[in-house]
Amino acid sequence: MLVIQNEETMAEFYGCAFVPTMGALHQGHLSLIETGKNRNRPVLVSIFVNPTQFSPHEDFDAYPRDLDRDLALLEDAGADAVFAPSHETVYPEVPTHIALPEVATKPNLEDASRPTHFQGVCAVVSRLFDLVKPSVAVFGEKDFQQLQVIKKFVEEDERWEGLEIVCSPIIREEDGLAMSSRNVYLSESQRSNAAGLAQAIRCKDEHEMCSTIESAGFDVDYAVLRDAQTLLAPIDGRPVRALVAARAGDIRLIDNGPVTL
Ligand code: AMP
Repeated sequence: MLVIQNEETMAEFYGCAFVPTMGALHQGHLSLIETGKNRNRPVLVSIFVNPTQFSPHEDFDAYPRDLDRDLALLEDAGADAVFAPSHETVYPEVPTHIALPEVATKPNLEDASRPTHFQGVCAVVSRLFDLVKPSVAVFGEKDFQQLQVIKKFVEEDERWEGLEIVCSPIIREEDGLAMSSRNVYLSESQRSNAAGLAQAIRCKDEHEMCSTIESAGFDVDYAVLRDAQTLLAPIDGRPVRALVAARAGDIRLIDNGPVTL
């Protein structure tokens, strides 16, 4: 596995399957590598804790970082290359305002709780796409609104013509909790109750979704059923997605899943 240090080595991987991450890797991230490998291309993983997608009160400084552990996991998972750029490489200039698709601003989900989040996500993703020049980019369904935002963002901008956005299913712990780098923040009792989020997304009723989350001791940020593509109100005959976000103190967890009504 190559650790990319300069632009010349990067050029060898143009056209790769690209897996952007913020590190603190778990099986969820590693499954994206598997998805990338299935496209029969070299898989390049980036590790960059992107400050612009964190709100000022969020956990940017405390976000778990362990590059040596991540490199060992990526080697074992069969990644072909890793790119862990410096802040200056990603942001030689302060990113300018980006026109976001409606799915980043209208649904009142992550966009409501984290108003600057998708500006930051699209800033980092477009810069990384420019540097890596992938032909495929793999994203997890775990961040479902992010996935829809990136799909639209890429579709609407001719710079990314031909770039395929591939989604990869959510990997869960045995009790159903969606794997997340933030799960390490949970206390023992919060951890044992956190599977309540995964139960909530199977409820098919928004009130029940809320009460399931609250019974698990979490505060509901949102617990909704939405059109799986626009993330607006469901429309008869179109796929529906259950989406939840919940808090325990400063810890915020999200989950989602398909719903057959
Ligand atoms: P992050 O490092 O949290 O920015 O996540 C990097 C990528 O991994 C994103 O595309 C996430 O959606 C994806 N991801 C995170 N957790 C999971 C999971 N449990 N299952 C599948 N993909 C995940």
